[in-house]
Amino acid sequence: MSAASSSSSTGPVYVTRQAHFNAAHRLHNPAKSAKWNRETFGPCNNPKWHGHNYVIEITVAGETDPDTGYVIDLGDLKTVLEDRVLKHVDHRNLNEEVRWLRGVIPSAENLAIAFWRRLESHLPVGRLHRVRLFETPRNFVDYYGPAGNAGAT
Ligand SMILES: [Zn+2]
Repeated sequence: MSAASSSSSTGPVYVTRQAHFNAAHRLHNPAKSAKWNRETFGPCNNPKWHGHNYVIEITVAGETDPDTGYVIDLGDLKTVLEDRVLKHVDHRNLNEEVRWLRGVIPSAENLAIAFWRRLESHLPVGRLHRVRLFETPRNFVDYYGPAGNAGAT
C-alpha cells in the first residue's frame, strides 16, 4: 500500500457480486414428528422434494486500493463464489448431495451461514461483509457473520 491510502481514507466501499443457482431441498427436522414438520414447514416439507431459484449476493467491504481503485477484483470474487459455493450447490439436492450441508436443515438462514463459512476463509481477512440469499423474489435473509456487525468493516 502506498502512503496515499492512509492519508486519503474514504471509509469503506461495499462491493457485491450476485449469482443464481437452482437447487432442491426439503425442510425436515428428524427429531420432530411428521405432523410437527408438516405444520412448521408447510410445502417446504414435501417428502418428494421441491426446488427454488436462489439468488446469492456476497458483499465485500474495504477501502479502495490506490493502485487499482478496487476494493477487490470482481473477477476474483466471482471465482471464489463459484469454486466455494456455486459449483457445489447448483442443480443439487441440498439435503443429500452437498457434503458440507450434511445434517443441516437447509433453510435460507442456515444456507447463508454455511455459505459465509465457505467464503470467508477464501477472501481477504475481515473483508466479507454480508451474505444475502433470496429463496424467492420476495423472501431473503442477510447474514453478517458470527459477530453480526452490520455496518462495520
Ligand atoms: Zn423450500
